[in-house]
Amino acid sequence: MSHFSYRNGELHAESVSLADIASRFGTPTYVYSQQSLLENFASYADACAGRDALVCYAMKANSNLAILRLLASRGAGFDLVSGGELLRVIAAGGDPRKCLFSGVGKTRDEMRLALSHDILCFNVESIPELRRLNEVAGEAGKRAPVSLRVNPNVDPKTHPYIATGLKANKFGVAFTDALDAYRLATSLPNIEVVGIDCHIGSQLLDDAPLLEALDKLIDLIDTMESEGIPIHHLDLGGGIGITYDDEQPVAVGDYLGRVFARIDAWRQQKHGGRPIKVCFEPGRSIVGNAGVLLTRIEYLKPGEEKNFCIVDAAMNDMMRPAMYEAWMGVQAVTQRSGDEVQYDVVGPVCESGDWLARDRGLVVAEGDLLVINSAGAYGMTMASNYNTRGRAAEVLVDGSRCTLVRQRETPESLFALEQLPAQS
Ligand SMILES: *Cc1c(COP(=O)(O)O)cnc(C)c1O
Repeated sequence: MSHFSYRNGELHAESVSLADIASRFGTPTYVYSQQSLLENFASYADACAGRDALVCYAMKANSNLAILRLLASRGAGFDLVSGGELLRVIAAGGDPRKCLFSGVGKTRDEMRLALSHDILCFNVESIPELRRLNEVAGEAGKRAPVSLRVNPNVDPKTHPYIATGLKANKFGVAFTDALDAYRLATSLPNIEVVGIDCHIGSQLLDDAPLLEALDKLIDLIDTMESEGIPIHHLDLGGGIGITYDDEQPVAVGDYLGRVFARIDAWRQQKHGGRPIKVCFEPGRSIVGNAGVLLTRIEYLKPGEEKNFCIVDAAMNDMMRPAMYEAWMGVQAVTQRSGDEVQYDVVGPVCESGDWLARDRGLVVAEGDLLVINSAGAYGMTMASNYNTRGRAAEVLVDGSRCTLVRQRETPESLFALEQLPAQS
């Protein structure tokens, strides 16, 4: 159920009018619905109830501290891709011992930081990384818990930039090399093999590729166990998609139900019913449709071929259209009567790639507010300061209460770290 809906012709987030939010906090502003966020998390947590399972929210989708704290309070772990993200989890009161550390380029400093906080597991993506982690753990007098990210070479049937489990991708250890990599891992003194993981891509609508990847991991775990390499957890990554336009993604509960049914049957058949811990790393499906980007129309500019609706949000606030040609829904905050006009919704940035939506029928006037829908994931976290534009404010709505959870950046703050060389 969407928590963004019209009441008397005015779009609301839960019980708060978006027009009120714009007048209080200005635009562009990201607005999140707490209800929506918690319901999305609950669809994972409920399906995992009573099992040895951990939902590690992939925080690169949206790492605002308020969002992290809410999810941590519901028992979430976190999937990190940098040391900075670990510091965010700690600042938000999350538990580092429920954190997985993914990513192909972990630095020594990041490894040291994660070891000092006793994270749950390093999702290691290459042999050089494994050797480096062994060294760093040795220096720290620790054993690093490790899962290898294997690349099951299944096609997730998604946009090439967000497909990550194919042979041609930079991620993970090739499936055919995985066994050797595990043999090496077990021979390293400061590495403790604990798991296996994969993450095949993002915005997947169908769970068939994920179940195919699961079958491959199951086979590999059986081979490893027959060699005396026990695996304590299996991590299927994230990737479940959301509705931007008319996509119909698999329901999270159905997907997890199928995963657990397969795992239970396998454990029953081959492992005397001994359970295995299961982890998930969802990002987009938790936060994507829990947020909108609220923006104001600066100008309506008619053209010979196209009409442009120029708004105060831009590609620096929301990169997805420029980067992936992503389609994002656009709605007027105040419903007007009249004939629709076709517009390209664009920002003020000096790039032709600076568009948010193309060929949309809108009934709008200068000064009206719009929202970009399903903007909660990979929106604010991918924002930049291009064109010396401060990043947007962020507001969290809970019923009739709204809280500014990140201030709008001031221009001065954008050059505060810069220094002029002495004049000669
Ligand atoms: C980005 C990412 C995720 C989350 O993907 P979503 O499509 O947002 O669910 C999970 N795991 C890893 C390793 C990632 O890089």
